Amino acid sequence: MLGGSLALPSWPEVPARLWLFRKGRSYTGEDSCELHVSGSPPLLAALVSALARAGARPAAPGEFTRRAFLNGRLDLAQAEAVLALTRAEADGEARAAARALLGGLRAAIDRSKEAVLGVLAHVEATIDFPEDDLPGLDPASALAERCEKTAEEIAALDRRSLAPGVVRGEATVVLSGKTNAGKSTLLNALAGREAAIVSPLAGTTRDAVSVEIDLDGRRVRLVDTAGEKEASGEIEREALARARDATRTADLVLHLVDSTTLASTGSPSSGSEAPSLVVVSKLDLLGASDRAKLETAGLSCMVSALTGEGMKGLRSRIGEAIERDPGLSPDLIQTERQARLASGARDALARAAGLLRSREPARLELAAVDLRSALQALGELTGAVATDDLLDRIFGEFCVGK
Ligand code: GDP
Repeated sequence: MLGGSLALPSWPEVPARLWLFRKGRSYTGEDSCELHVSGSPPLLAALVSALARAGARPAAPGEFTRRAFLNGRLDLAQAEAVLALTRAEADGEARAAARALLGGLRAAIDRSKEAVLGVLAHVEATIDFPEDDLPGLDPASALAERCEKTAEEIAALDRRSLAPGVVRGEATVVLSGKTNAGKSTLLNALAGREAAIVSPLAGTTRDAVSVEIDLDGRRVRLVDTAGEKEASGEIEREALARARDATRTADLVLHLVDSTTLASTGSPSSGSEAPSLVVVSKLDLLGASDRAKLETAGLSCMVSALTGEGMKGLRSRIGEAIERDPGLSPDLIQTERQARLASGARDALARAAGLLRSREPARLELAAVDLRSALQALGELTGAVATDDLLDRIFGEFCVGK
């Protein structure tokens, strides 16, 4: 950093600083410098016109970020995260963009590409050597399964495709279960405050109550839902519909089962599409023999929100469930462009899986075509495959100076 002053034509000297960024250590990756002066519009105008006379030109929209991308400082998804960050209005949006800026999407997409390449290699080997019984080739059904699993992982990167309107930038954990299973009480215990109305009357939780908690440094939105119960009135029906929506789009569903009803009904199932954890509640109400029965049934997640027993274990189980599945780290997909490519890749993988399952040799070629188009879409997503047109479109949306 050099301190000094600027001598602009017909201006008194003004103090200024010049910051130098060496090649490889600047935002764009090129040698660059920044001039810092007081933020006065007439001064800035005089400075910009002096620089223009000396041969400088204004940057095109997004030009700095485009150069950063071309010099390998950022991948395309990260460049788009820069755009998303500058445009973000809500706190959650800004946080999600900041997370995308760390490059998590590329890591996830690279894993998917790796998986698709693996499948493609097997498919092509089978096409090339149809007569030979090649050792080590996975059967078509295993390959189809890998396609489907990869498609699911890609789907999980885009929570917006699953959940319009979900608050971005945090994991959502939904409490479900029968009325009076102890959902509100558990929510309050996890939140450490009275957020939901607890009542021994069945069906008191009419609406989805949601609180944000800090779970070992991770922001988690806990949502309490109306219990599973026959809906009688208009309001209850609406509440139940909302509960179902929340459950469908959750990162994790805690399915609560009252320990005192459980012993008679046997082992519970959560019956939800989202990843879920069955939690046996009201452990303090159980006698020793029932407790032993449940323990041998392997129900490891048992808590009493009242005495606090098992709560620490539950917290860490929630933490693990949210961290473990890469698909559960929400909101890596930032833009419509990324969403469209991700869904294109998913569709291509689903088609490939179907073709592979049909076990007809003639369809292997078609499956290979779909696998290649999935790879193409994934490549475009992170900019490994990028045309000038595409770059013009993306960086054209940036404001000047970014
Ligand atoms: P929800 O309808 O699922 O939200 O259930 P609530 O949280 O309103 O709880 C229903 C009833 O169960 C209330 O009377 C609570 O006090 C009681 N309850 C909830 N958790 C516990 C617990 O861990 N132990 C005991 N003994 N009672 C509980």
